[in-house]
Amino acid sequence: MHRQQLGFFPTPIVKLPRLSKKLGGPRILMKRDDQTGLALGGNKVRKLEYLVGEALAGGCDTLITGGAEQSNHCRQTAAAAAACGMPCHLVLGGERPDVPNGNLLLNGLFGAKIHWTGELRKGEKIPEIAAQIRASGSKPYVVPYGGSNSTGAVGFVEAVRELVIQLEELKETVTQIVFPSSSGGTQAGLVVGRSLFDQHFQLIGVGIDKAEAGDRPFDELVLSLANSTAERLEAGLTFTHSDITIRNEYFGDGYGIVGELEQRAIRLVAETEGILVDPVYTGRAMGALIDMIERQEFSQDDTVLFWHTGGTPALFSYAGEIARRDVTGETL
Ligand SMILES: *Cc1c(COP(=O)(O)O)cnc(C)c1O
Repeated sequence: MHRQQLGFFPTPIVKLPRLSKKLGGPRILMKRDDQTGLALGGNKVRKLEYLVGEALAGGCDTLITGGAEQSNHCRQTAAAAAACGMPCHLVLGGERPDVPNGNLLLNGLFGAKIHWTGELRKGEKIPEIAAQIRASGSKPYVVPYGGSNSTGAVGFVEAVRELVIQLEELKETVTQIVFPSSSGGTQAGLVVGRSLFDQHFQLIGVGIDKAEAGDRPFDELVLSLANSTAERLEAGLTFTHSDITIRNEYFGDGYGIVGELEQRAIRLVAETEGILVDPVYTGRAMGALIDMIERQEFSQDDTVLFWHTGGTPALFSYAGEIARRDVTGETL
C-alpha cells in the first residue's frame, strides 16, 4: 500500500504515576498520539498517511472531507493537503461563526475552503460538492468521514506494530487499552493489529457519539471495518462480535457536549500529570477510564494503556465550559 509520510513516529509512551496514585488504581500508561507531529497532532495523521498515499498514487489533485465544526479529522486533513501542495475542501456542520476558534481557526490557516451544511455534520453533502469539483476539471479524492475505511484503518494496524516494539523496549506488558471510538477506524485497526501481531491486551473502546435511529449499530460497523481491513491486508483473519468491546454508557448529553465527566477528567489529568486531554473525545474516554477505575473494574496488577488520540486544539473553543472554577464558582 502507498504511504505518504506526514507525521513523526513512533509517538512516545509515558507513565502516569500521579494519576494512578490519585485514583488508587492500576498502573496507567499513555500513548501520545496527540503528538503525531502534523499540525498539533492527533490519531487521524496515522490514517491520512495511507489515505493521502492512495490519493497521490491515483493521480488525485484535491482532498475533500467533512465533519463537525470542531472536527480534528478535518483540521488534520487540511494540514495534510497543505503539506502535499493540494487544495482542500471541508464540508462542515453548523453555521459560519463570526470569529473562528480552535480547529476551525487552523483550517483557515491551512487555506481550506469551507462549505457549511447546518444540521448535517457527517459530510452528507460530500458527493454533491465532489461532483462540482470534478465538473470544474479537478480530480478530488474523498477522504471518508473520520478517515475510517479499510485504507485509513491500516494506519492503526501499523500503530500496533509500533506499540509492540516500544513495549518490548520498555519491558512493559499492557493488559487493557482504553481509547475513544467514534468513526471506528481506530478501533478496527487496533483489533486487526492485535491479532496480526499476536497480542492479548483487551481493547476497550469508549463510544463517543450515540448512534441515531436508523444508523447502523456502531459495533457492527467496527466489526465489518475490521474484517474488510484484514481482507485488504490479506491477513487471513476473521473477527466476530466478541472481538469488539465498546462502552456505551458515557454519551452524557450528546456528541460534543461537555459535562461533569469530561470537566473532571480534563482537570485531573492536567493537574496531576501536566497533560491536556480534549473536551470531545479523550476527555470523555479518560472520564470513562476514571469511572471504570473507581468501580474497581481493574486489578492492581493490571497495566492500562490510555491511547491519547489528540483533539486538544478544540479546548480553546470550549473555554466557557471548562474554565477552571473553585468550589464557590469563582473562575480561577
Ligand atoms: C476522530 C477522533 C477519535 C475517534 O477515532 P475514530 O477512528 O474516528 O473512531 C478519537 N479522538 C480524537 C481526538 C479524534 O479526533
